[in-house]
Amino acid sequence: MKETFDVAIVGAGPAGISAACILAEAGIKTIVFERGEYPGAKNLSGAVLYGHNLAQVLPDYIERGCPVERNIVESRIWYLSKDGGYSIGYRDRIFAGERKFNAVTVGRAKFDRWFAEQARKKGALVVPATVVVDLLRNERGWVAGVVTGRADGEVQAKVTLFADGINSPLARKTGFRAEPKPEQVSLAVKECIELPAEVIDQRFNVGREEGVTAEILGEITEGMDGIAVLYTNRSSLSLAIGANLADFRDHKKKPYELIEQLKQHPMLAPLIAGGKSLEYIAHWLPEGGYDAIPKLYGDGYLIAGDSALLFNALHREGNNLAMASGKMAAEAIIEALKRDDCSRRGLAGYGDRLADSFVLKDMKKYRRFGKFRYEHKELYGPLPHLAGEAAREMLTVNGVSKKQKQKLIMQHLRQGKFGLLRLARLAWQGWRSVK
Ligand SMILES: Cc1cc2nc3c(=O)[nH]c(=O)nc-3n(C[C@H](O)[C@H](O)[C@H](O)COP(=O)(O)OP(=O)(O)OC[C@H]3O[C@@H](n4cnc5c(N)ncnc54)[C@H](O)[C@@H]3O)c2cc1C
Repeated sequence: MKETFDVAIVGAGPAGISAACILAEAGIKTIVFERGEYPGAKNLSGAVLYGHNLAQVLPDYIERGCPVERNIVESRIWYLSKDGGYSIGYRDRIFAGERKFNAVTVGRAKFDRWFAEQARKKGALVVPATVVVDLLRNERGWVAGVVTGRADGEVQAKVTLFADGINSPLARKTGFRAEPKPEQVSLAVKECIELPAEVIDQRFNVGREEGVTAEILGEITEGMDGIAVLYTNRSSLSLAIGANLADFRDHKKKPYELIEQLKQHPMLAPLIAGGKSLEYIAHWLPEGGYDAIPKLYGDGYLIAGDSALLFNALHREGNNLAMASGKMAAEAIIEALKRDDCSRRGLAGYGDRLADSFVLKDMKKYRRFGKFRYEHKELYGPLPHLAGEAAREMLTVNGVSKKQKQKLIMQHLRQGKFGLLRLARLAWQGWRSVK
């Protein structure tokens, strides 16, 4: 394959395909390589996707048959001790009405395949089952295309877009970006649990096309900086739990142990009861935040999505940052090609666009959040434990006066070294990390 393209894209995830759609629409000769048997084959079962960002790439995504599982109408947050938990949530009819498709669940295997098909229809060449194993460089050292694992697999391109996700053997080999440190990555395991659609409707108190997300924190990660999520798909649930990679190493824990324990928790067990496990998969997430973002473009190349470590860890948003950065990379490439300048300077429009958008603005706003979480392990151990004890005490009706119960709770908190001052300081530091 010794053809020359305007743009070569590595990876057919949301970032790569968003870029391919915009480029192909503009008549740019684009090729996308995907190592999976088909786009989505290497991706996770279920995920939340945001209609706004998809519409920026494909305004008519609904008419094009986007495989939406459920439209999210309620978001829950749970803070769990070992045996119980606090739950808050917000449901609003606006998300079933005028803001329908604000957030939806999709099965990534179906979605990525459909999305890639739209890029193909617009004119991009999507080549599955093909791994990019190396880069071509020109005489000036600029990236000038890719080398695939196929025989005769060199493809020259004026610009290469790396949209190959967080775990990138290609980055390790070629050094187009540095390998993230264990503290900057979390390792998640995800299980897809099949249940009849009507059972999901009943258990989550939703209509057939409506869905719920739950973000779950607390003792479930056994003192490690981590989080779990539960999403409703049409006839399955996606349950995932992850923690910082450095914490897994230091605590000598295994991710599958966490998910097995989580499935037994009294808040979870009734929701998944009778379900059949369809898929089980482990994946990294970029959690280093703003300060971990690598150099985003250089001579002849750009980096988008997870590969660029663009992930909003507070709101668990990755897909929309991937789609938005893919789109902005494509727009910058179109400009650079028009000026016939694909140097670092010529591609600088990418950095400007990102800096001006929610992508880098949000990541900058939350730049201290990761450090706060990582340094306050009490959030995942003693604190949810004591919070659980306090609720237990208050809710137990046993003839002890409420004033006496309050005293007991304060005693427990102090014994656990959580005086009011420490709690207030923790709340203040948490607020400062996201303000
Ligand atoms: C457990 C879990 C739950 C998540 N839930 C959500 C959620 O609910 N909402 C949300 O917004 N985000 C979520 N995310 C994050 C989200 O999945 C990512 O941010 C998003 O997938 C990034 O898209 P991407 O296109 O950058 O990378 P990816 O989706 O990782 O796509 C990269 C693609 O590149 C291919 N590839 C890699 N190397 C090569 C190579 N050398 N040659 C050819 N192809 C290659 C891969 O096979 C893959 O298809 C979650 C992540 C995890 C792990």
